[in-house]
Amino acid sequence: MSEKNHPSYHENDHAEKQNGIYCSLVNLVTFIAVCVILIVTVGLITGLISHRIIVKSTPISSTVRHTTPTMIPTTLTGPKYSQLSNPRLPNTVRPLNYTFQLDFDMNQFKINGINVIEINVTSTTNIILVHADGLTMLAAPQVANHANFNTNSTNFAVADHGTYAKNSYYYVVLRENLAIGVYYIKFNYVAAISSGLFGLYKYQYTRAFDHEVIWGIASQLEASYARQVLPCFDEPALKARFTATIIIPNNYTTRWNMPLLKKEAMANNKNRYQFGTTLVMSTYLLAFTVDNFDFVEGRTARNTRIRVYARESVKNDTYFALGVATNMTEFFENLLAIPYPLPKQDHVAIPAFSFTGMENWGLCLYREQFIIYNYYLTTLTFKRAIATTITNEIAHMWFGNLVTMTFWNHLWTKEGMATFLSSYAANTYLPSMKLMEFFTVDELRNGLVVDSSASHPLVPPAQYGPFFDVITYSKGGSIFRMIHNYVGNDDFVASLKHYLTKFSYKTAITEQLFAVMTTTINKFNVSNYFDCWVYQMGYPLVTVTRDSSNTNGGIVNQARYLSNTNANPSVDNPTSPYKSTCGYKWNIPITYVTSNNPTTTMKANFYKNTSNLQISWPNNTWIKANIDQIGFYRVNYDLSNWDALATALQIDHSVLSNLDIASLLDDAFQFAANDMVDYMAPLNLTKYLSKEIDFLPWHMANKHLDTIGGRLTGSSYYQDYIQYHLQILKPAVDTLGVIDIGTDIEKEARSEVLKSACTLGNTACIVNTSRMFYAYMQDPIRNKIPGSLREVAFRTGIEYGSVQEWDFVYNIYRTTLIPTERSSAFYAMSFPRDPYIINRYLQFATDPTKIDPSNTMTVFVFLTFNPVGRDLVWEYVRQNTGYFMNRFKSTRPIVNIASRRLNSQFRLNQVKQFFKDHPESGPNAAASEAQTIAAINANIKYLNKYGKTFSTWFKQNIKMD
Ligand SMILES: [Zn+2]
Repeated sequence: MSEKNHPSYHENDHAEKQNGIYCSLVNLVTFIAVCVILIVTVGLITGLISHRIIVKSTPISSTVRHTTPTMIPTTLTGPKYSQLSNPRLPNTVRPLNYTFQLDFDMNQFKINGINVIEINVTSTTNIILVHADGLTMLAAPQVANHANFNTNSTNFAVADHGTYAKNSYYYVVLRENLAIGVYYIKFNYVAAISSGLFGLYKYQYTRAFDHEVIWGIASQLEASYARQVLPCFDEPALKARFTATIIIPNNYTTRWNMPLLKKEAMANNKNRYQFGTTLVMSTYLLAFTVDNFDFVEGRTARNTRIRVYARESVKNDTYFALGVATNMTEFFENLLAIPYPLPKQDHVAIPAFSFTGMENWGLCLYREQFIIYNYYLTTLTFKRAIATTITNEIAHMWFGNLVTMTFWNHLWTKEGMATFLSSYAANTYLPSMKLMEFFTVDELRNGLVVDSSASHPLVPPAQYGPFFDVITYSKGGSIFRMIHNYVGNDDFVASLKHYLTKFSYKTAITEQLFAVMTTTINKFNVSNYFDCWVYQMGYPLVTVTRDSSNTNGGIVNQARYLSNTNANPSVDNPTSPYKSTCGYKWNIPITYVTSNNPTTTMKANFYKNTSNLQISWPNNTWIKANIDQIGFYRVNYDLSNWDALATALQIDHSVLSNLDIASLLDDAFQFAANDMVDYMAPLNLTKYLSKEIDFLPWHMANKHLDTIGGRLTGSSYYQDYIQYHLQILKPAVDTLGVIDIGTDIEKEARSEVLKSACTLGNTACIVNTSRMFYAYMQDPIRNKIPGSLREVAFRTGIEYGSVQEWDFVYNIYRTTLIPTERSSAFYAMSFPRDPYIINRYLQFATDPTKIDPSNTMTVFVFLTFNPVGRDLVWEYVRQNTGYFMNRFKSTRPIVNIASRRLNSQFRLNQVKQFFKDHPESGPNAAASEAQTIAAINANIKYLNKYGKTFSTWFKQNIKMD
């Protein structure tokens, strides 16, 4: 499934770090699930987010009920049968075929299910365990040697059956042992249709033409929710075939993984849908939809039917998705030489969906924003996310669906692979989007940030996880990108073909993938070289310095990179359950160029058992290592080399690729913030930007300069920052203009530059984008704003406008039925400069009739990024303690959000006083208070330590005309 491809507004990329967890602002809006899971994991702002999304990592035992009289409650001393205590199913019974019928009750939102499982008993046993969570059995399960359970079959007497909630098991104990052989077990049950976003769940949306509220049903069964729909062997390795009959009221239609065979009317205003039998597959890939959607249809070259389904009013915005899905299916068929094995492939835009997309075999489901594309309403960030999300799900048709990970701790073999392959593949269809460059922005950088703090190995021990997180997806994808580059495209692709062929309709673990690669790639052992990247967490900091004994040489060193520079990087963190298998050393593919020959990439292997690596580095030249940031590591140099690089860029920045320039900026700013290099190093690098008009370097520079701006807000140094940033932006604003022309990547560059320039006060930017905004305000039909400029135009309209402009955008937020339009409006609403509007917005955010309560927290977070809003948010929280206490039962999380960007002693004293005046004793209160105070202290310290340096440097580099 996908939960990444972060659409990122650039202020939003001020990643906020708390306890080593990064949640960018946009994460809080569109990826709240990801952050929520991370936050809940460490017990931070639990309770704040439960209204938005239901997060269940383990089945909730209280929902498991049954009505059978034979059940005996499990005792505190342990389960009734020893097999129940093992969280993994015994290997005595394997599923072969499921034949089930689900009868939907759309009034009471429940299903009546009958499920017959053909099982293979592989060693004699009298106990059958299946997964079942929240299912109410209507009768005792039956076991027989024939699927009909009639008089011709031998029925086996059931001695006991019941629920063992702890492991979501349903156990069926027989009076006598079953000999090795094939049997059938039948369950008759009722299951509730959930109100959350997991399992089989209901959602509602407003129909465009008559504003009727319409119900629909969708499913999300990964990782372990199939057991909420039917009793099953709910582990990925226990693959089987499935045959479904679905009965629904005749005013709805339904879809399933396989094509419809027969639809027949029933007496009670219901229709019965009989679907074809699946291929051998895992339970988590089953999918169900019940709705009234319409579709567009295409065919691949091999005549596979591809459809994109959506509610009627956005149906015309599904053609981009159809193009991506069709082309990408053909791409993978050609690349892998294995045809897509199903007769159909449906993609459905679901109005309420937990992740961005889910690769159910034959029936992919998406959150609407990640599949619906409209030139005027969709930002380029979302366009990119749509392309990579759909491609990600299609890559899973092979990686995940055809070959599945044996257990969840090897999740990265499908998710990391799909993350890498989605950019790799979609880049061929949409070359002007430069998706392989964006990979470093959307994936690699996030991986580097998270993996240097709270992390876990890509393959954790089986008792941990599954982790649907940045490590599995972004780091996982980056490691596959690194392997791909190291072994070469041909060998990499050949390995994948062998892997898919060898394990089709089966499962594999990382070792098996690497073994196939090793066999395919002659004379290179993939495991030996790359294992430490997979089985230990973290990544190396590579340092390149001049060899004191050789003026034409350099010395390369490695040590684990930790964002907390006080921690010892070479030992295990005592609070982490993960122990390193490699002593935090890695085999590192080193690549570099020197100014002697900047077009020829030099390569060397830095092996983990060697203390350092000597390389050739001609005297009086600069060096740049980790070419195109292919390696999953950071590189530091001595100050003279940083300076030489900065000078080289000012002379001719085409000497390095955009990827290289962006990685230099990112590494240098990271190191400076950690006191590993002087701030001169990154700041000098930014000087050349007055000649830059490309997206990637600007994106990285703006991200880091905005962070500095945020730190300086409210201080006397703030104006110096603004003047310098405006100065380097001006030539790019003048060159790129505000007309929506050029390729997608050129449009992204324009949007990136304008967003910073307008907010910092560039006159041309403000005049031109305001004009666009006011024309739109006057006549939104005739003066539409292209998606690529929509956010900057809305934001400028709000920043430099009055109540009238804010209300106009707020009205769009309130009334639009299009999620992307709503999120652009919601984004812009956070940037008024008038304190009156900000205070009114804060009141709106706590009034459920004005702002959807699920957005309350996001409003507060967004407003802290508004230089005027920051103090007002804190004041509002301070003065409305009762409201927050009443709603969230604790003020600590909101205080943390509202105050953690404050940077003055005056505010710190206020926060401390607040904690005194409103004592709390909840489980996380003390920790939250300490964290909040530490954050403000760190801001004050930062300002004291660097403020003057920044100011002096900016002043020296501001040109007076
Ligand atoms: Zn995925």
